[in-house]
Amino acid sequence: MKKQQVRRQEDNMGKNIDWSNLGFGYVKTDYRYVSNFKNGAWDEGTLSTDDMVTISECACVLQYAQTVFEGMKAYTTEDGRIVVFRPDLNAERMENSAKRLEMPVFPKDRFVDAIVKLVEANADYVPPYGSGATLYIRPYMFGTNAVIGVKPADEYQFRAFCTPVGPYFKGGVKPITIRVSDFDRAAPRGTGHIKAGLNYAMSLHAIMDAHRQGFDENMYLDPATRTKVEETGGANFLFVTKDNKVVTPKSDSILPSITRRSLVYVAKEYLGLEVEEREVYFDEVKDFAECGLCGTAAVISPVGKIVDHGKEICMPSGMTEMGPVTKKLYETLTGIQMGRLEAPEGWIKVIR
Ligand SMILES: *Cc1c(COP(=O)(O)O)cnc(C)c1O
Repeated sequence: MKKQQVRRQEDNMGKNIDWSNLGFGYVKTDYRYVSNFKNGAWDEGTLSTDDMVTISECACVLQYAQTVFEGMKAYTTEDGRIVVFRPDLNAERMENSAKRLEMPVFPKDRFVDAIVKLVEANADYVPPYGSGATLYIRPYMFGTNAVIGVKPADEYQFRAFCTPVGPYFKGGVKPITIRVSDFDRAAPRGTGHIKAGLNYAMSLHAIMDAHRQGFDENMYLDPATRTKVEETGGANFLFVTKDNKVVTPKSDSILPSITRRSLVYVAKEYLGLEVEEREVYFDEVKDFAECGLCGTAAVISPVGKIVDHGKEICMPSGMTEMGPVTKKLYETLTGIQMGRLEAPEGWIKVIR
């Protein structure tokens, strides 16, 4: 084991965290990054040990849900470095989200700098290589001043905290069962393409209902025609055809997943696979060989079964393991993230 890696593991032991038994829950870390927007400008921003937010009871975020967020991860690589995966894309996506909700943009270079400072300050909470655990990073922004008539706030807070999270596939990969939802996720020409809390507030009933009926997730169809596959509540679809083509749905109301975009690149450039980004009709799903859900949390979560009002579609890849192409995609992307495989230019932001 390299010296740097040994030191990292000793650091981690100092926090007394049982990395392999961590779940996906909030664990308070030492520092968070905070910057406030007032009189038309962002202040210089700072790290803070205060995990509490104090705002007006009439804050725009509390009355009208004016808030956007991001999610990404920091990892310890095989050679003991701490890295973050493509934070520039999170910065760009948050810019688009903010503009759609009439919020000021937190500049991209400042966003990346905030993430670097946050992870550096909480380096002891970055799980060691091989533990399967990661440091989840949550940047977000919200309207803070009192607003009672419907209009955007003019004061905002940008904040980023991080929390260590356990391995997504504890005790091995297990394909999930999903259902076609009777609820819609995003209206055509609505806000489905931005990462805003409002899209999640209205999905809470749909996901709890799915769980009560014994399903892991909802497959949302396009609300206009209910014939095309959109996404789930928090992950994009990736399908594999019987002749090993990767197919991923294209729609203006799908959230542009950074994981999905990275997997498409990996499929083409690392694995030499053909990729189609296009409208995907639900009628086609029964003919696919593999199905996975892509997002930062799991990278790819395999789908074994899709249920449409009692009619079951059982993916040929089955209920015990990832399909072969999904698995290759998963191993290649996680290999890039963990430093086992060479990354495309600009994909890995080294913290230290
Ligand atoms: C965040 C999110 C995803 C996944 O995006 P990643 O950038 O890959 O984490 C997919 N769908 C929705 C609705 C999301 O909010």
